[in-house]
Amino acid sequence: MVCSLTHDGACGPSLARVSVEAEGLRLRAEFNPECDECAACAGHCPYGAIEES
Ligand code: SF4
Repeated sequence: MVCSLTHDGACGPSLARVSVEAEGLRLRAEFNPECDECAACAGHCPYGAIEES
């Protein structure tokens, strides 16, 4: 949501440059090539699930 709002001005998971893939009980963030590493998603994650490296 934050990614699409930041870059596209619209709230939509299909616009986001990150998606979440399920691997059994684990979830993995997948960043597409359009991600500019702005870290907006990391800054707004309430659970700290995504960290800026
Ligand atoms: S770091 Fe990438 S995925 Fe996260 S908000 Fe920025 S562009 Fe979107």
